[in-house]
Amino acid sequence: EETNEALEPIRIAESASHSDMLWDISLRARIDAAMEAGEIYCLYQPKIDRASGSIAGVEALVRWHDPARGFIEPLHFVQQCEKAGRMEHLTRYVLQSACSAGQLLHFRGTMIKMSVNISATLLGDMRIVGIVRNILQATRFDPRFLVLEVTETSRIADLSTAAAILSELRALGLNVSIDDFGMGAANFETFFALPFDELKIDRLFVSNMLKDPKARAIVSSLVAMGREARITIVAEGVETPEEVEILNEIGCDELQGYVFSRPISLSKLLEFNENREEARKANMV
Ligand code: C2E
Ligand code: MG
Ligand code: MG
Ligand code: MG
Repeated sequence: EETNEALEPIRIAESASHSDMLWDISLRARIDAAMEAGEIYCLYQPKIDRASGSIAGVEALVRWHDPARGFIEPLHFVQQCEKAGRMEHLTRYVLQSACSAGQLLHFRGTMIKMSVNISATLLGDMRIVGIVRNILQATRFDPRFLVLEVTETSRIADLSTAAAILSELRALGLNVSIDDFGMGAANFETFFALPFDELKIDRLFVSNMLKDPKARAIVSSLVAMGREARITIVAEGVETPEEVEILNEIGCDELQGYVFSRPISLSKLLEFNENREEARKANMV
């Protein structure tokens, strides 16, 4: 009796992790089919230009809606993609969608930037340069409007290889951004070692600005640094009008967050942009 009771919690714990493992294995096995079936797609979140109030650009954020299981958490399936060795494939798919969307926006006269997240694990191999070049050619999207946000910089195996690859990418005419700055390994060491055109201040600092003067000082120091080093500073995760006000005072270049818009479909984005431009013009006269 005693032995059974003692074993019970262990058995439950084991079966829970076992089913998690099975779920992840089936997830990895379904990734390619899901892309083909159109279950994986991008939403676009606006980034607002502080000076003009217009949309400066959008960030493509991947989504997976499985018809049987519902939405699958992006960060989780991105990690599973990495484990399944399908990161390059997913990135190609997202880049293709995002550059096509960007080209469509430009064709309609909406000259905004398109940001795409690039996992640091892809910065160990020059192949990514060819992939990006081919997609730019195929979609005819103007490279000067493409921004690659390097995520998970903790996973950069070799900084000098990554620096060489990012230089090649920049030579295509595009811009490179460091994502989630201030968190984990997205730190000053990475920032100094790699050629960045843009820095995204992690949501942590933005959400603490109101209650913690240290967080506000960090944000304003980064903005000052960006001005001097000619690096675009973007605040992520802006959720309240009070945060917008502080970021305006500080002079942060671009603002992104739920206070303006959640990630939305391309057609909603076109609508959002039209409404915003109309409101801007109405306020000017
Ligand atoms: P990220 O690149 O830092 O993207 C910002 C995340 O914050 C997005 O979550 C976005 O929906 C969320 N967000 C935006 N504004 C707000 C806000 O005001 N408040 C809060 N609380 N959250 C906000 P999402 O879409 O779940 O993506 C999570 C992460 O997954 C991304 O973080 C990025 O690291 C990764 N990811 C997403 N799409 C891709 C992709 O295509 N490729 C790669 N490699 N990673 C991706
Ligand atoms: Mg990002
Ligand atoms: Mg980010
Ligand atoms: Mg983030």
